[in-house]
Formats: sequence, structure tokens, C-alpha cells
Amino acid sequence: MQTKLKKRNNTQNNHLKQMQTQKITTVETVLAWDIDDIGTWPQSLNNEFRAIILEKDPGRIKALEYPKDIRGRKFTENNYDKRLSNGEIVNRRWLVYSKCKDAIFCFPCKLFNSCNFKIATMGTNDWKNLSHILPQYEKAQQHIESMHKWCELSVRLKNQTTLDAQNQRLLESEKQHWCRVLERLLSIVEYLSTNNIAFRGSIEKLFQPKNGHFGGFVQLLGKFDTVMSEYLQRVTENEIHDHYLGPRIQNEVIMLMSDKVRDNIVSLVTLAKYFAVILDCTPDISHQEQMSLVVRFVNINDSAQITVKKSFITFLEVEDTTGFGLLQVLPDELK
Ligand SMILES: [Zn+2]
Repeated sequence: MQTKLKKRNNTQNNHLKQMQTQKITTVETVLAWDIDDIGTWPQSLNNEFRAIILEKDPGRIKALEYPKDIRGRKFTENNYDKRLSNGEIVNRRWLVYSKCKDAIFCFPCKLFNSCNFKIATMGTNDWKNLSHILPQYEKAQQHIESMHKWCELSVRLKNQTTLDAQNQRLLESEKQHWCRVLERLLSIVEYLSTNNIAFRGSIEKLFQPKNGHFGGFVQLLGKFDTVMSEYLQRVTENEIHDHYLGPRIQNEVIMLMSDKVRDNIVSLVTLAKYFAVILDCTPDISHQEQMSLVVRFVNINDSAQITVKKSFITFLEVEDTTGFGLLQVLPDELK
């Protein structure tokens, strides 16, 4: 049991600590949880606690000094064994003694709260009639069902096939799917941006003529790539509303990427210490004067190769296109 305790991970340890120290108000008394003593468990247990109990497998504390009742009767460990008619001795794995209650309980029935016999709810200490109670109880339908549930859950937990584990795996695969989709969409944005290719056509819908390069690339990938083909199927069948294909998300991704590129250029310029600035103005389609800002600097790479680099940083809107006007806008941007 000690080895098992050490092996348990921190999360479970924390759960256990919480549960063991949590004060539970029951009808009879106020008890602190003790996973090793079935008599301290509350009336109903949730799935999480069941899983922890089964994983820890509290087992039995043997060779105890069992207290005698007023008539001098006490629990004896012989009750753990059952003698079959053919003489074979079978261990009653379901039978557990509670030290704090000085009573015996049915482990699976207590675990699933699925039986209203005293031995499953409050525990029994009718030592005198135990030899009759136990064989009778073992034949009870409720108890047999609990035994089945116990075996089933133990096996499922062992194979990690409980509902929680299944849900967890489903969530994980859905997360992976979206990561892969985004990875592909980002690659398309990166390719179009670095090659100065226009993203949008005259229409934005998928599988429509003239829907632009972005839509076209998405469709093209869907032809050969299983991730994109599944994704396109979900989009066209309206299974998802957020498809990350719209112009706003494209612009957002372009901005994020350009920020990264600019940060990189700025760090190179900062390293170079000396740089020149090239400014040039031209009006855009709405007659707004746009000033392009280009920096030129000497770059020395890791293998000591020296190159002169020229990098475009941004467009700046200016009102005054004289040398003085341009210089007024510049310092703020350079900062
Ligand atoms: Zn039972």
C-alpha cells in the first residue's frame, strides 16, 4: 500500500487530501474522511471519488484487536472466507471491516450506494448472526448487481475506457484537429503575404468562381489533405460557424505576422547601432499622402558575413509633405 501511495501523482494526492480532510456532516455524527476506513465514507460518492478509491484499493487491515461487545462477541477474520459445498474456500473480497464503526460493510454496495441493506449503508455488527447474514446477503439481487458494477468499473478504469477518459480523448482529438487546421491557414497567409499575392477575389464563398487566392488555396489543400478535407466538409455542411476564413481573421493574422517580422528587423537594427532612414511620399487612391519608411543598415550575421540590408517598416500618413513635415512624423515612429 505504501508503494502505491508513493506512485500516485500529485493531483490525485491533492484530491485525496481534500477528500480526507473535508468535514462531512452525516445524520449520526461529524466525521473526517478516511479513505482506509469505509465507516467514515459519506452516504453517496461521486464518480471521481469512486475512481480514486478503486485506484488506491484500500484493502483490509488484518490482525486487528477486534473489540468485544457487551456479550463478549466480536468480529473474527474467518468471516472473510466462505466455504463452498465442495470444500473450496473463497475469499469474500467485498467484505470490509471498519475500525471506527466496529462494523462490517459491503465494499461495492457502499461504493455505488446501490443497496439498502444495513451492511451496505450503516454497516452491521450483529456478530452472533453473521454466519447466517453473510450467505443470505450474497444471494441478494442488489448485491449481485453491485458486484457486477464493481468488476466492470475496475476493468474499465484499468483500460482507461471510462466515460471521462473517452470524453477527454474526444476533446483532445478535436483540439488537435483545430491546431492542424490553423497551422495550414497560417501557412497559406504566410505564403501569400511573402509573395505579395492578393488574398481576396470578388467573392468570399468557398467553391465559388473568383473567390480569390486564399479561398483557392484552402480548396486546393482540401483535395489532398485529410485534415483540410474534413474541415471543408464541416464548413460546407454548416456544422461549424467559426471557420477562420473571413477577411477579418486574415487581416488579424497578417498583422500578427507583420508585427513579428518588424520586431525582428528592429532587433537587427538595434544590434547594428547605425542605420539610415529612407522616406518617400505618394498619395493613395483617396488622395491621402502616404509616407513609406525604409531603414538601411549593416547586418553582420552569426558567421561574420557582412551585408547591407534594406527593410520596409511601415506606411505613415502625413499632411505636410515638406522635409520638415516628414521629419516631424518620423521620431515618434522610430521610438
Ligand atoms: Zn453488497
